[in-house]
Amino acid sequence: ETLRAAFAVPTSAELRPGGADWMAAHWMPFTGNRQFKADPRWVVAADGAYLIDADGRRVFDGLSGLWCTGLGHGRREIVQAVQRQVATLDYAPAFQFGHPLSFELANRIVERMPAGLNRVFFTGSGSEAADTALKIARAYWRARGQASKTRFIGRVKGYHGVNFGGISVGGIVGNRKLFGQAVEADHLPHTQPPAGSFYRGQPPADAPYAQTLAEQLLDLIALHDASTIAAVIVEPFSGSAGVVVPPVGYLQRLRDICTQHDILLIFDEVITGFGRCGAWTAAEAFGVVPDVLNFAKQVTNGVQPLGGVVVRQDIYDTFMAAGGPEYALELPHGYTYSAHPVACAAGLAALHLLQHDEALARVRALAPVFEAKVHALRGASPHVTDIRNYGLAAGLTLAPVPGEPLKRPFEVAMRMWAKGFYVRYGGDTVQLAPPFISTEAQIDDLCDALGQTLRELT
Ligand code: PLP
Repeated sequence: ETLRAAFAVPTSAELRPGGADWMAAHWMPFTGNRQFKADPRWVVAADGAYLIDADGRRVFDGLSGLWCTGLGHGRREIVQAVQRQVATLDYAPAFQFGHPLSFELANRIVERMPAGLNRVFFTGSGSEAADTALKIARAYWRARGQASKTRFIGRVKGYHGVNFGGISVGGIVGNRKLFGQAVEADHLPHTQPPAGSFYRGQPPADAPYAQTLAEQLLDLIALHDASTIAAVIVEPFSGSAGVVVPPVGYLQRLRDICTQHDILLIFDEVITGFGRCGAWTAAEAFGVVPDVLNFAKQVTNGVQPLGGVVVRQDIYDTFMAAGGPEYALELPHGYTYSAHPVACAAGLAALHLLQHDEALARVRALAPVFEAKVHALRGASPHVTDIRNYGLAAGLTLAPVPGEPLKRPFEVAMRMWAKGFYVRYGGDTVQLAPPFISTEAQIDDLCDALGQTLRELT
């Protein structure tokens, strides 16, 4: 009752029959609007590893929000930093004038990047980071006199947000088919092992399916010619496609081919960055350094919208050298909310907490426990055709119901919600990314509830 009063939210019971009117105006993102409005699932508060629904029920946050609240909800240090900042400087013009927090945050981010990646361009989201990285790549080659290098190579099953550049290089068909191809792009094959593989962590380099995956970049270069290709963009592991982890050696091979052919390599670390892999970046975890690295989500613990693109210094220097008089813009690009002061305050507090809590070490310690529990779900239902994991992330593929390939994961997520666990469903997968602060008991409970749910499937 207190919660309902505090948040002025009608009960879900009130909303079920008559709520459609009250809910009509909001067109929800990436949501089955008709189904949600008929059977809403409310989140009205959050605390630690739990979301709290309109009935006051504590629901375990099995995807850390949307892969972004690894430190848990309501962290006092972040809340206070945001409160202080919003009361001191709620907004500063992002262009031509500056506030100190963004410079401080850029320094703190660079300290956590692989050596050589040391210039940060801020955006408001992961989608904006994707399009920013693609624009920087094209403009970089133009500044170097190679204006024909405009094409991008993404990957099947890749997700780089929803803006036109991002969906052009992305490889999730549902996100592309309604909108058309906006930016010239070709795609590497995905790296998902065949059904039934059940690899734990990174698949081995000698897995039969793995042999030619990275080599296919050479075929795309042979087809298009490197003189037309600006950049290759991949997630170190694909998150939204259901935690698709590349085989050992794959990313290094992409790195080598890009270097040999003068093509920039962009890692989209919007999910993998800032702890999920048990390292500051997946680049660090996998030992492969890209030329450009995108981040968002966990950088503020999801508390404020913030993303960004980190580039090698010589990329930045190229723009500075080509920039004309000093008062001229070197890159005509940016957002009203680039480096928003309140988001920067949240980012500084979140990075401090990630360090202070030893969150990365905690992820490394929990990862094997999580891996064992998740893979034990293999026998829970014949419909589970594969399980993949890395760090504190896992994806389960479920065999499709004939004619309704997306239905089983949806059913699993709804049953899990009813049991007090939030998990994500997307395509034919169920996805887990528990908070870094999870206890082993919470991970046990999450996996036990999922096992029970999978056993209930027909
Ligand atoms: N890139 C990757 C790898 C992501 O996983 C996401 C979001 O899930 C994005 C980009 C888009 O981020 P946003 O939703 O903040 O625009």
